[in-house]
Amino acid sequence: HRHLGQASVAAVQALLDSGELDPEPIVWPRLADYQAEGGYALLGALRTGKVSVDALCDLLERAGLRGLGGAGFPTGKKWQFVRAEPAPRYMVINADEGEPGTFKDRYHLEQAPHQFLEGALISATAIEACALYIYLRDEYPGLRAVLRSAIAELEATGLVAPGFIVLRRGAGAYICGEESALIESLEGKPGKPRHRPPFVAQVGFFCRPTLVNNVETVFWIPALYAKGAAWFASQGLRGRQGLRSFSVSGRVKKPGVHLAPAGITLSELVDEYCGGMADGHTLLAYLPGGASGGILPASKADLPLDFDTLQPHGCFIGSAAVIVVSDQDDLRAIAKNLMAFFADESCGQCTPCRVGTEKMLALLEAEAWDATVLRRLAQVMQDSSICGLGQAAPNPVISLLTYFPTDLARQGVQIREAGDA
Ligand code: SF4
Repeated sequence: HRHLGQASVAAVQALLDSGELDPEPIVWPRLADYQAEGGYALLGALRTGKVSVDALCDLLERAGLRGLGGAGFPTGKKWQFVRAEPAPRYMVINADEGEPGTFKDRYHLEQAPHQFLEGALISATAIEACALYIYLRDEYPGLRAVLRSAIAELEATGLVAPGFIVLRRGAGAYICGEESALIESLEGKPGKPRHRPPFVAQVGFFCRPTLVNNVETVFWIPALYAKGAAWFASQGLRGRQGLRSFSVSGRVKKPGVHLAPAGITLSELVDEYCGGMADGHTLLAYLPGGASGGILPASKADLPLDFDTLQPHGCFIGSAAVIVVSDQDDLRAIAKNLMAFFADESCGQCTPCRVGTEKMLALLEAEAWDATVLRRLAQVMQDSSICGLGQAAPNPVISLLTYFPTDLARQGVQIREAGDA
């Protein structure tokens, strides 16, 4: 980004030709390495009936494993819903990781692709899926090569029947991280979210019951079995269960993926895992859940970060993409950047989102912000958009109006309410 922001097209081409931008090759543990540490033993035990699906469901529930793509739905329950539907059933892995600021799935896939594949195959076996589809973010070409090789290793050793795992490329659309849009895309159609009900657990891929799980959710399953439900559950803080992979970016000394207890606070995360704030920067705000999870002020840096804990404050943790904002950042620029992103990524299917995001972006460009109109528009988008994109798009703006009027004024953004002269 540092290079590309300043370079002309010719300079970019020169950089590409020089090889300076070529990624480092990914070094990953091969099948034999993973098996030497007990890898694929649980899959074998499940296939031979030594471990029952019910026992695994029970394990997941005791551990408190929840969907780590953002929704936080209990994983064991999701399995049971799909198992209750008639066969044939499909298993789909959402590896589209498109939420701005989120890069934890990439991290786990690079570190341990076979642990992920075992978790995915265990889930597929649990619901007796007839095929396992992996929908991979197209901006991860290095990972595509890794997964292709890892799947080839499994097929060569007979651990998986050839063709059972299908690796599909996404095409760069944020909305395809939404599970029904992802399924539409997998079917070869434009990625537009479906109306629900019916849910994809009942009517999913090619109209069959489908289990959709995020990469990190299934990644944890082999480790949970090896270390025990009590181990995972006990990792949380303040009554929360488990670990979360926080993708931290912004004004901290050590950005990156930090594995930390569910229920940790932003202050603790920054101080104990990120080396503190970057030199010369003071915490002003943070985005707890990427672009859609709202913005919280520094005065709320002691809230436990987890599912269900931020809703009373108008925010959510989603996929745990924490973006740290300092006193030197421009709040209007942040609001405009996020709204432009949503306007660009709206699939255009419903009016409140397609028109609402464009309209809100125009309102944010005005010299003074009309809070009454912004709030009214946000309400319409939240109440009547078909999917989470349109419903969550106004979150950052509402957060700024709620928590940052003084900071906005200091930065030259006046806020007007209806009736103001
Ligand atoms: Fe498409 Fe936006 Fe409507 Fe979702 S809310 S269906 S992204 S137009």
